Amino acid sequence: MDATQREATIVGAGLAGALMATLLAQRGWAVEVYESRGDPRIHGFAGGRSINLALAERGLHALRAADADRDVLAQAVMMRGRMVHPPGGSPQLQRYGRDDSEVIWSVSRGELNITLINAAEAAGARIHFDRRLESVDFVAKRAFYRGGGELHRVGFATLIGCDGAGSTLRGQMRARSDLGERTEWLGHGYKELEIPPAPDGDFRIEPNALHIWPRGRYMCIALPNDERTFTVTLFMATQDEGNGDPSFETVPDAAAARALFERDFADALPLIPGLDHDFDANPIGTLGTLYLERWHLGGDAVLIGDAAHAMVPFHGQGMNCAFEDCVALARQLDATRDLAAAYAAFEARRMPDAAAIQKMALDNYIEMRDLVDDPGFLLQRELELA
Ligand code: FAD
Repeated sequence: MDATQREATIVGAGLAGALMATLLAQRGWAVEVYESRGDPRIHGFAGGRSINLALAERGLHALRAADADRDVLAQAVMMRGRMVHPPGGSPQLQRYGRDDSEVIWSVSRGELNITLINAAEAAGARIHFDRRLESVDFVAKRAFYRGGGELHRVGFATLIGCDGAGSTLRGQMRARSDLGERTEWLGHGYKELEIPPAPDGDFRIEPNALHIWPRGRYMCIALPNDERTFTVTLFMATQDEGNGDPSFETVPDAAAARALFERDFADALPLIPGLDHDFDANPIGTLGTLYLERWHLGGDAVLIGDAAHAMVPFHGQGMNCAFEDCVALARQLDATRDLAAAYAAFEARRMPDAAAIQKMALDNYIEMRDLVDDPGFLLQRELELA
């Protein structure tokens, strides 16, 4: 490594971490990435959050900057609009735009992550799997990672925190300086179910759409996967709210879920033959919005993606926003070698955007689940996902 080469350590090789590593390595930086999970190319993708995601133009734009867009789109399924399934009525497609130049894409989180990990390594980044950040000594500039039954001590020039909503790096930064952190829990959670392919191997319902079953204060959505399945996500309150609506408290098991689907999602029920198994086996995911007043600690560390601004998923923008962060941070780092100045400029530029998207995501939950009363309103929200 020559003396002028710039160095960064990235915590987390998820969606933001792998893209950030690619962008910096492409610029000639020496990039080391530490990821708590095993290598998904060897062990399979260990999931965690949603199985698939809606990729919109904001995210695609960032992938283009890393030259990763073609590989990602090759595995994506186009969604040209929302297919709304009213109770007892026929589904209606509401297009996002005028034609197929204005669409969003359903991508598998696992495939996308592997594509970006490959891109990061091809660009020259070194990824260390099975290395969970445990603590940071900001004075000595050393980070401690747990892996293979040992604690590894590694020096760093600067840390970029891409370790998601429960970020350990954020916790370490907070121990040193108040970040003005606040999390607002939604009180609603989610569970994932699967629509398998039809017996003839084809998709069971229209593949090129994001399906929504809006039911007032709860709903199901389904996004297509390239292996001709759909991932269905049931969203509802985690606790009984005393308003007669179902919740994960009043629908605690497969038998109760089946009764709920028979009553409220009758057209979806025959599509999900594994409902009983999926409902009992899959965890309830919690949802919240993370607000911080500071995203960086001088030039020592900066947070991006969910580690900085986790949001509820109803605008399909968390990953897209995390990808935009990567491009914005790379741009600031191009502009100056002063890391503290680059991080401050990144924060000033992206914090208001992230706050605006967080608010839109919360608003969109109300709107999506209320479509039951006003399916026509979607027309005015066309392309907002982009
Ligand atoms: P993550 O994807 O969470 O990655 C964090 C990485 O850090 C992981 O690989 C993790 O293993 C690693 N890590 C964690 N702790 C440590 C540690 N201590 N040391 C080392 N590594 C660590 N967004 C969209 O744009 N479109 C959608 O349609 C969409 N749908 C969603 C649906 C649901 C149900 C949910 C919950 C979220 C959805 N999102 C969507 C949001 C999206 O998942 C996140 O915004 C995105 O994953 C953020 O990427 P990230 O890299 O910041 O964090």
